[in-house]
Amino acid sequence: MTNIKRNPTRTVKIGDISIGGTNPIAVQSMAATRTQDIPATLHQVEVIEKAGADLIRIAVDSPRDVVALAEISKSATVPLSVDLQENYRLVQKVAPHVQKVRYNPGHLYHHERNKSVSDKVALIVDQVEKNDCAIRIGVNCGSVDPDKIGLFAEDDSISPMIASALEHCELLDKSGFTRYCVSLKDSDPANVVEANTRFAKECPHIPLHLGVTEAGMPPEGVIKTRIAFEQLISAGIGDTIRVSLTLPFDDKGDEIHVGRQILEDIYAGRFRSVPANMGSGLNIISCPSCSRVENEAFIELAHKVREITQYANQYNLTIAVMGCRVNGPGETDDADLGLWCAPNFVNLKRGPEEIGKYTYDEVLPKLKEEVDRQISKINLIEIDQAT
Ligand code: SF4
Repeated sequence: MTNIKRNPTRTVKIGDISIGGTNPIAVQSMAATRTQDIPATLHQVEVIEKAGADLIRIAVDSPRDVVALAEISKSATVPLSVDLQENYRLVQKVAPHVQKVRYNPGHLYHHERNKSVSDKVALIVDQVEKNDCAIRIGVNCGSVDPDKIGLFAEDDSISPMIASALEHCELLDKSGFTRYCVSLKDSDPANVVEANTRFAKECPHIPLHLGVTEAGMPPEGVIKTRIAFEQLISAGIGDTIRVSLTLPFDDKGDEIHVGRQILEDIYAGRFRSVPANMGSGLNIISCPSCSRVENEAFIELAHKVREITQYANQYNLTIAVMGCRVNGPGETDDADLGLWCAPNFVNLKRGPEEIGKYTYDEVLPKLKEEVDRQISKINLIEIDQAT
């Protein structure tokens, strides 16, 4: 049994559970169905509850989603967290139905640019206080506040994330609101470890929600997550976790099973050795999908991308497959090749450069052509270096 001394974080109450302090690490997941499809989302929540979730997150982007959320919250047996996207004003409508509100400082920056960020945060705080909710400041590597990016070296993606989180902690603290936690997510487990370790050193009292975003499909997505969690949780960092996997809706409970298994293994001292070549070779990152996915065919597409690119296993290539425009354009910028899905077509990219828009059927052969091109480039560089 590993003796883990947890960071002395403060306790944050979320409905009838609490995270932080000496509370067990809570395991959560997110509904991936379209929120306004009430029967599908009710079923999704049930699947995740049955798997043993402590908390379930639901995304809300529109007034119709709010109507659905109100309905779903009536039958949920675990606390609900809502994911506010650009439309932070929806907090007024959703807070009465949930126990926690997650906002992304990067998205808050872009919406209503004529308003100060502190005014937007004040509106959120006012509503969560009136409705007895907690907050998560959810910073994501693909959507960091551009003002923070400009403050640091171009190759430093972690400092802007931390600066953004700290700014928002300060805003909440100044308003006297302390019932919050923070997340710093990246698709690279090494970055997740670094960001959370640095943040925890600076603010050991703030509870952390851990996750590797767009970890992809099992088993790779599980391995990436395990790598990050093993290092952080064994160092006492982390108060709640989410495993993000690209899975069919009916299998979403696996995010909870995997999360609990990883925790159990860490506490039992069962660490998995990380192969020396882990992190090299083909790396496919894909988002776990959520209610904003614009075409459910995305999940099948992600699996097919992995299938048809297996022949490139030995090459250091990153391919990102993303479910929608919210995080798709940003996340694919950093990959060698990226696909982000729109309702009827898929945007294919080479780094930040657009290659074209293709139907779900057309995009796979196009992707293969691009993979071949990248392989030829890598081979040429190797020949060049050898001569
Ligand atoms: S990229 Fe879009 S569909 Fe995928 S998890 Fe993020 S918001 Fe949801």
